[in-house]
Amino acid sequence: MRRDYLFITIFFTLTLFFGGIYALMNYKKDLAIKEAYKSYYRENKSLFENENRLLNFQARILYDLIVDGTLKWYISQFALDNNNSSIYKDLIEGRVRKFSKVLKKYNVLYLHIMLKSKSIYEMNKVVFKNDYKFGFYSKPYSTFVITQKGVGYLVSYPIKDRKNNLIGNFAIVFDYLKVMKMFFKENIYIALFKKYGEKLNFCKLNNDFYLSGDFCKKYGFKNLFFLPGVVKYQDYVVIAIPIYEISDKIGYVVKVEKEYKFEEIYKIHEHFEKMTIILFVFYVVSLIIVFGIVHFLDVYKKASVDRLTNLLNRQGCAKKLKTISNYSLLVIDIDYFKKVNDTYGHDIGDEVLKEVANILKNSLRKSDIICRWGGEEFIVILPNTSLEMAYEIGERLRKNIENCKNFPYDLKVTISVGVASSKGDFQQTFKSADENLYLAKKSGRNRVIF
Ligand code: GH3
Ligand code: MG
Ligand code: MG
Repeated sequence: MRRDYLFITIFFTLTLFFGGIYALMNYKKDLAIKEAYKSYYRENKSLFENENRLLNFQARILYDLIVDGTLKWYISQFALDNNNSSIYKDLIEGRVRKFSKVLKKYNVLYLHIMLKSKSIYEMNKVVFKNDYKFGFYSKPYSTFVITQKGVGYLVSYPIKDRKNNLIGNFAIVFDYLKVMKMFFKENIYIALFKKYGEKLNFCKLNNDFYLSGDFCKKYGFKNLFFLPGVVKYQDYVVIAIPIYEISDKIGYVVKVEKEYKFEEIYKIHEHFEKMTIILFVFYVVSLIIVFGIVHFLDVYKKASVDRLTNLLNRQGCAKKLKTISNYSLLVIDIDYFKKVNDTYGHDIGDEVLKEVANILKNSLRKSDIICRWGGEEFIVILPNTSLEMAYEIGERLRKNIENCKNFPYDLKVTISVGVASSKGDFQQTFKSADENLYLAKKSGRNRVIF
């Protein structure tokens, strides 16, 4: 029974140990993946920021080219007289058109000239001040902007009069998706929050997000929600970088990659995970084998042990006898044992048998072999012991039992012992010792005869 507990303890300890290793590895894997995702995010974010920087740079060139080169005078005229249609006509037909090819080449969606006091000029049409949603800024700035033609990237410059007062803004709005397609190829999209996305021709992904291009058709990620960072979704890794219209978050730039980029990390960790699983299986199998062997040995041993007294039984005794040839033999029988049973019951009889067995065990050496031969008969095999010595030992046993005060109901228990030393086979020796036991009984019991 104790061994079972030991096994259970070993099993749980090792299971915990392997479980721990497995969990640790998973944790490390998660960390590694998180780290990889983080650096992947950083990488993409800076790529994305570089691209915006490039757009700012392009806008500056266009600004210099258009405003400083051509439009300055017109703008000043507008500032003076907003309703001067001939100037307006001249501007549109004569000047701006001149640039339309360049603007197209640079993916420009809009050119805005927004004057604080007057109406607002926009490439191809005049819009009014109220339509201009950003207010006026005296410093250059850039922002994403939702326009009727799609998501734009707006770069705005201040327009100042001769006294350096701000009279308006000049803005260039790039077609952001077109620019991105040039830059990143296919797997870049824009995700807009519902209220922005609804107005554009974006596809509805779910209740929160609308996506540009063929995103919905291509991926059909129904329950995908974007958060700044990287998420694994099915076989893909989805990166989402937030974009703002001035300070309002309007959605995300989304990049979708096949997961293979992260395969290396998975591979390394899967290798370790596999190793743990293999080790675990190996350990379970070996534990089962060891347990099986021990259990078998246990059963085997039980077959040779007497249950009541834990002494060897006849089979156990026979096995032991095979290994020795020179010995003396004591055959022991409890005197008047029937009486004990009859007077106090079988259970008390059993107690007496156990106590006698204990006394035998405690009075003899480890190398001596004690067996319960049957009923209330025991034999003791004393290896390499002379007949005289065996007699002495028999006497000691007899006295120890006679003097024992541990028996239930203060019973007085005595034994009779027949002694013989080995001659021929065991049967012969036994017979001779048994005859001496008979003599001991006959001559009054509680004695040893050899
Ligand atoms: P004696 O040997 O001195 O001649 O008298 P005895 O009363 O001991 O006689 P015998 O050896 O013939 O009786 C053996 C009794 O031991 C018979 C049986 O009831 C009892 N006995 C045998 N095995 C067990 C056992 O496992 N438990 C108990 N309680 N009694 C047993
Ligand atoms: Mg008997
Ligand atoms: Mg007896």
